[in-house]
Order: sequence, then C-alpha cells, then structure tokens
Amino acid sequence: MPRILMPLAAGLLLGGIASFSSADPATSPAARLGEAIQFKTISYQDRSQIDFREFRRFHAFLRASFPLVFSQLEVEKVNGYSLLIRWPGSDPSLAPILFTAHMDVVPIEPGTEDDWEHPPFAGVVADGRIYGRGSLDDKQGLLGNLEAAESLLAEGFVPARTLVFAFGHDEEISGKDGAGKLAERMAEKGWHFAWMVDEGGMVVVDNPLLPDKPVAIINVAEKGYLTLTLVATGEGGHSSRPPRISTIGRLSAALERIENNPFPTRMVGPVAAMLETMGPHLAQPNRFFFSNLWLTGGVVADRMSEDPTTNSMVRTTTALTMFNAGIKENVVPQRAEAKVNFRLLPGDTPETVVAYITELVDDPAIEISYDQWDKIPGVSDYTGGGFAVISEAISAVYPEAVIVPSLLVATTDTRHYIDLTDNQYRFQGMLVSLSQASSVHGTNEYIDIQSYENAVEVARQMMILGAR
Ligand SMILES: [Zn+2]
Repeated sequence: MPRILMPLAAGLLLGGIASFSSADPATSPAARLGEAIQFKTISYQDRSQIDFREFRRFHAFLRASFPLVFSQLEVEKVNGYSLLIRWPGSDPSLAPILFTAHMDVVPIEPGTEDDWEHPPFAGVVADGRIYGRGSLDDKQGLLGNLEAAESLLAEGFVPARTLVFAFGHDEEISGKDGAGKLAERMAEKGWHFAWMVDEGGMVVVDNPLLPDKPVAIINVAEKGYLTLTLVATGEGGHSSRPPRISTIGRLSAALERIENNPFPTRMVGPVAAMLETMGPHLAQPNRFFFSNLWLTGGVVADRMSEDPTTNSMVRTTTALTMFNAGIKENVVPQRAEAKVNFRLLPGDTPETVVAYITELVDDPAIEISYDQWDKIPGVSDYTGGGFAVISEAISAVYPEAVIVPSLLVATTDTRHYIDLTDNQYRFQGMLVSLSQASSVHGTNEYIDIQSYENAVEVARQMMILGAR
C-alpha cells in the first residue's frame, strides 16, 4: 500500500503502541480521536434508545480538547446536541464556507462484538492505527476539522472569509434533528455559503483502474432516495375456497415486473467527468474508451452496469426491500404490502420514478404511495470555485494523487443544507483502501494514524486556501 509520509507527522508514527486511558490528557490528534471513540454517541432507529448523556459528555470532551475553538469562536448548541461554530472572517463582503460532519455513529450489530480485533468503543491506538466505531465514519471528520481549526488558531491565523462548522448528531437516522435543525438555524440567520464540504469522499489507494496511484474522489453530487409502498387489496377468505388471483400473487407479479425492468443505464455528468479525468492515466483500451465518452459512453455504461458496485453509478437502482402479507396459513389475506427503495441518478426525480413504476405495474388493484421525499442536491460546479480549492488542498498533501469528481451513491447530511449553498462537495483527506471502506457500519472499523494526520492537514489546507 503506497504511503504518503508528511515530514511533520512522521515523527509521531514510529512509536508503535500508544496506550492511554480517558484519564490521561490526550496529547496527539490520534490519541484524541481514540478518546472520542470511547463516547457511545450511538444513533438508534428507535430514538427512545439513544443515550443523550453520552452526547453531553462528548461535548464536554470536545470543549476540553479544543480550548481555543471553544473560547475564541462563536459556539452555539442547536436542538440540544448539535453544534454550530462560527469563525468570523476579516472581510465580511466574502461569502462564508461551511464545513460539516456528524458526531453520531451506528450501533454494533448484536453478536458481532467479538469479531472486532479491539472492542469497538475502546478507542485503542495500536500498530499505527486508531480502532473503533466512528474512526472512519465520522468522528475523524469532526475531530479532524476541530484539530485543523485549533492549530490554526494557535498559529494566530485570521481567515479573510468567515468559516462555519456544523456538526449534527443524528446523521445515521436521517439527520432531521441535527443537520435539519442546523440548516434551519443558519437560514434564520440569513447565512449563504460560497460552498460547503461534508463527508462522503476520500483518497483511495487501490482503485482497480489505477492501482499505482492514489485517487482522490471529490463527490460533487449524490443519488436521490425514494421508497415506494405498493399495496394490493382484494378478495380474501378461507384457503379452502381461494380467489382466482390472491393479493399475494397480484403483488408478486407486479414486483417481478419491477425487478425485471430496471431503469436504463445512463452516463451522468459527474461520472463521465471522473472517467475522463482518469483516462490519460490508464493503459489502452480503457484510455481510449474513457477519453472518448461522446462515442463510447453507452458501451462504458453498459459494462459498468454488470458490476453491482459500478452499476449504481450508471442507473437509478431498484431494490425490493420489504414484503408483508398474511397472518395465518389457512387464510387468504385481503391485503399485501411491499416496499421498494430507489436510488436516483441526477436528472431523475421522484415524479419520473413514480410514473415509470406506475406504468410497469399497470394494475388498478395495486395502490402506489410514498412518504414526503427529501430534496435531492444538484450537481455542484467541478470546474472551479470550491472544487479548485479542495483540489489544491489535496495536492498540497498528496502531490501524486489523481483528483476526480464523482457521484456519491449513498446519502449524507448534505441534503439538509442545499438551500444554503449551490455547491456541495463531499470529501475528507483520509487515505483508505477499498476493502477498508467496507468496515464503515461493519466490523473492525479503523483508520491509519498516518491517514488521519493527512486528513487533518488537508482540512487545514482547505481552511487556509478557502478563507482567502
Ligand atoms: Zn457518516
């Protein structure tokens, strides 16, 4: 695995095991991240299970760990547990920049606790790594921003442009109480940002197309999220005198049509831009294919659709996720219900998905409904502005990285902030392998100390260069 060593951080990495308990003062960024992991700021789908004392204790830890941020900047608690921090710039005529992250983490799947190399909430720092839930998602993002700001304050740095930090507390369960309320608060204040940067992008070391070079992925768009509920109603009754078509049969047939007719593949702007940027670094024939998408886009999209990982970048995906019907083996149910989850490519809208599915189902006995949908962020500018600033920050830390715009196939808190800025970027400066990325929300989540130090330096550069 290629390593990018920064001279200023290298000295910290050679010590091997840095064991410490929460009573010790954390003296390095890695030790502080390890300590942050020990707070069980866990989001549960059932909000009554959330232990908000852990969030209060976590706030106290942040205040103690970043004294300059909490004494010199304007800090406001929003909706009890989220944090809004403003660093006023010297030139109020410049539009501010927004940095976001979240403090909550997902629970450990019951029964998998013992599969962890180190307990998920111990915050163990060993073997050049920081282990635990949140080490990648997203305590490194939150702490990384605070490390960057704290060190810049210590150096006497004064931004020309105002910098704002918004740290939500429920990203993993919709973000409505955290980012949603932070966005409302900022809208009340009339704040409008030149651009924002959230979690959701990183530097990848083992991209299968470019295994020899780190690839920095700045996600400039994300897929939309929509769940449709399909309900079949009809004749029920005793199974000894069954109806010709049961509600289960009717709904199953509709679902089969939906699954067998995926949305067509399509090459959207950010994905095309990613491939075109990588093109010159590739061997033939990919170099030709990626450099001439005007000609080859359809073929490339079809090839990408054959792999589940890349398939989601070239089509609006369809996932049948729930099916419920029946209460007893000898009763034909009068009602069958299913849920289908869609992730929308830029350009598709909930309306176009509903229209497509309604036409496929083509059955008046099946009712199609949906909850209120979230706003879908647009495609941000990847030719200049914030994208150029983030690129410059990456190059300062990873000079050999190939920097590409791309499309995030998951969702983040970003969608709550879209009325505050036209340009949302998703990028953090950590260096990870693709295999490591699967530990997010899974088992054995960790971050390399070097990778975290790099991420802090990228955050510092984004602040220094962005605040000009
Ligand atoms: Zn996250």
